[in-house]
Amino acid sequence: AREAAFAGRMQPGQTRDGARVEVSANINRAADAGAALESGAEGVGLMRTEFLYLESDHAPTEDEQEREYRAMAQALEGRPLIIRTLDIGGDKAVPYLGLEHEDNSFLGIRGIRLCFERPDLFLPQLRAIARVAKDHPNVHVMFPMIATLADLRRARAMLDDVRREVGAPAIPVGVMIEVPSAALMARELAPEVDFFSVGTNDLTGYTLAMDRLHPLLARQADALHPAVLRLIAVTTEAAQAHGKWVGVCGGAAAEPAGALVLAGLGVKELSVSTPAVAGVKAALRRLDLSQLQSVAREALAQPDAAAVRALLEPLTLENT
Ligand code: PEP
Ligand code: MG
Repeated sequence: AREAAFAGRMQPGQTRDGARVEVSANINRAADAGAALESGAEGVGLMRTEFLYLESDHAPTEDEQEREYRAMAQALEGRPLIIRTLDIGGDKAVPYLGLEHEDNSFLGIRGIRLCFERPDLFLPQLRAIARVAKDHPNVHVMFPMIATLADLRRARAMLDDVRREVGAPAIPVGVMIEVPSAALMARELAPEVDFFSVGTNDLTGYTLAMDRLHPLLARQADALHPAVLRLIAVTTEAAQAHGKWVGVCGGAAAEPAGALVLAGLGVKELSVSTPAVAGVKAALRRLDLSQLQSVAREALAQPDAAAVRALLEPLTLENT
């Protein structure tokens, strides 16, 4: 079965009856683009740019960043590239930035909040992205840890200023939905973005108030908990009402059960680690969209994650 999945990896991501669900890769460096495409990825749904900072002893300059983003955009040959702006703080520390210690770093200055505090980091990154977007219309920008409409407006305004300065055309802009408030405000956010991408890793942690790395809690912190799925359903409904698309780039997209229920909830793009691409495509191809929609509706009504998993399990078997 693994071989059959692998053999089908270059077919477009779609259900048995042909409903498109793009399957992209989460990759951090241009050097990994070749392997992602070879695995069947249809684009890059999450480029975690913080790795440029984490793997260096200094903040990468505007030119260094531009080189990396350009190499990635070129390697994808017109396929979508979603560049997520710097997401540090929380569990991702960068020693040379001299960030202040926070007792509660997951509720502190992380992601877009740090970028607002540190325009010396944010503006060069936006400029590097805008310079590449000038030549590569496949470039999309995505902001992490958006919690409020004000966050989105402030980030967009900074991007728009930089775009004008650099002479770049409009760039598709999306926000991560990884904070419960963003999911609940998706109706207000949707008209002001081009797309959403759900970060199920953080969304699960913040929804259940459980640290996924906590030894006693990790097993319960399940992204397929109906509380998390209901927030995703709120997000896809709001997006659809405004003609916008929703992707998922958190870990739930990479397991077959997650991919199926997410597609049933109306998600149009699943961005997963390179080794997971073929398996997600194979799982989608075995079922019709209407089956996924009906199981997703049932999943929303379950009392807990175990019940959701029990419901989905038969659909993930090879012979369905
Ligand atoms: C997420 O939170 O699901 C996500 C994709 O972002 P990260 O894992 O980088 O926090
Ligand atoms: Mg996250």
